[in-house]
Amino acid sequence: MRYVEAMTSPASSDRILVWFRNDLRLADNPAASAALRAKEALFVYIEETNAGLRPRGGASRWWLHHSLGSLARSLAERGQILLILKGDSCQLVPALAKGCRIDKVVWNRRYGQPDRNMDAAIKAELKAAGIAAESFNGALLYEPMEIRSKAGGPMRVFTPFWRACRAAREPDRPVAAPDRLPPPMTLPAGAPALADLGLLPTQPDWAGGLRASWEPGEAGAAARLADFLGGPLRNYGENRNRPDFVSTSRLSPHLAFGEISPRQIWHATEAARMAGQAAGNADDIQTFFSELGWREFSHHLLFHFPTLPHANYQPKFDAFPWQDDAEGLAAWQRGQTGYPIVDAGMRELWQTGFMHNRVRMIVASFLIKHLMIDWRLGESWFWDTLCDADPANNAASWQWVAGSGADAAPYFRIFNPVTQGEKFDPDGVYVRKFVPELARLPDKFIHKPWEAPHPIRQGAGILLGQTYPQPVVRHEHARQRALAAFQSLSGEPL
Ligand SMILES: Cc1cc2nc3c(=O)[nH]c(=O)nc-3n(C[C@H](O)[C@H](O)[C@H](O)COP(=O)(O)OP(=O)(O)OC[C@H]3O[C@@H](n4cnc5c(N)ncnc54)[C@H](O)[C@@H]3O)c2cc1C
Repeated sequence: MRYVEAMTSPASSDRILVWFRNDLRLADNPAASAALRAKEALFVYIEETNAGLRPRGGASRWWLHHSLGSLARSLAERGQILLILKGDSCQLVPALAKGCRIDKVVWNRRYGQPDRNMDAAIKAELKAAGIAAESFNGALLYEPMEIRSKAGGPMRVFTPFWRACRAAREPDRPVAAPDRLPPPMTLPAGAPALADLGLLPTQPDWAGGLRASWEPGEAGAAARLADFLGGPLRNYGENRNRPDFVSTSRLSPHLAFGEISPRQIWHATEAARMAGQAAGNADDIQTFFSELGWREFSHHLLFHFPTLPHANYQPKFDAFPWQDDAEGLAAWQRGQTGYPIVDAGMRELWQTGFMHNRVRMIVASFLIKHLMIDWRLGESWFWDTLCDADPANNAASWQWVAGSGADAAPYFRIFNPVTQGEKFDPDGVYVRKFVPELARLPDKFIHKPWEAPHPIRQGAGILLGQTYPQPVVRHEHARQRALAAFQSLSGEPL
């Protein structure tokens, strides 16, 4: 059911339970808005421990803690309470609904297979108990069920997918946050406090870089969007590949937690354009929208190909000769590969819980093609360390780089980390920020310290193999090895 239809439905329920999941906002939240028609409302978030559900990574847990705090404050400003629970949602939701004599439970949809199975089971149990249940689209511009190929099946290639989306309709208009909410119910005793969820790292507290980089929550998301529209949107089409300055929106963690909806982003961008307040031109805006389109496409793929996070979309990749290389993997994870752009990216990720998209492509290509390490190990590391870790975007992007995905990068595209660095971080600003031991190298060598003459390295305080590693693998050798491996799969001549 489309959002607009759901919003205008005349059905009214006296006691409603709103179950927040990855939609931690009040504005443009169809499930939360459904509560406006109720006499009393119960707002719940469950830290789910269901079997078969992938546990969140460390960076996401940190973000979740702060995002829930922000949501609880927004509810409190409207006289409401966020009830936080931990456990199996398949048991907790029906038990809570029955115990609190709820008439109707509402939530916004998720698109992974485990989530969908859980939702179906919960809906069935609620209905059997005489409790209504309704779900909405809170996360996407175009839901996967809505966009189909001419033959009626799922879409597998981005360009026709996005064309079909755009031809279908304009994205729905967002709904403003409610000023007031129905009053709370008496809460069940013994619910944990946010701090009891233990989402924050303590021993050690590694989250200093995350705290310095982000403001989780709905207000932080709105501020990011406003900053972007008035700044980095200018020349976005060209600059979005540059990691050496803020060239993109950095909205991805806010989107992953649903602190802002893509409908809000879309229409705020359009409104800024119409008012002459958008920094970018029409091309910049279309490029930005098509990046949102990649997010839509990733969700479309996850919905139609639910094994995407753990199985090759193209089964021929099951025969790929992945290397069992624990040392290589550790060097990559720690940003110690000896390739400055790769190391800068991996350290940015570790320090801030984020990595620029261009650098994500470079480091992923390096892991898969230079080290020939299974993309799933890279996907898991990202899952643990990214604040925006997202089952659809992460899996689809890793498979795209590996070449194993739908509409994937061609196997023979093997990024050269030196030329990629020189092209997208031409003055070495990004490398110097995250790999400070190279900071004093002249620009000419910043992406290839091993080529700097000994006196220059010495002058910059660099001892290769001691203060900074030698390259873990030589590019040309790695390239040939990867091409041979890919060729063995395809059977095509190089
Ligand atoms: C190996 C790899 C892993 C990735 N893992 C994730 C992940 O776990 N979560 C995640 O949100 N993104 C992931 N991405 C996609 C992309 O890198 C990030 O969405 C982007 O860097 C976020 O920065 P931004 O918000 O400034 O993007 P902007 O350029 O401002 O784009 C706006 C929004 O569009 C979406 N978007 C942009 N690029 C992509 C893309 N290539 N695929 C899907 N959506 C996109 C994001 O939601 C983003 O916030 C991955 C990319 C690669 C190559």
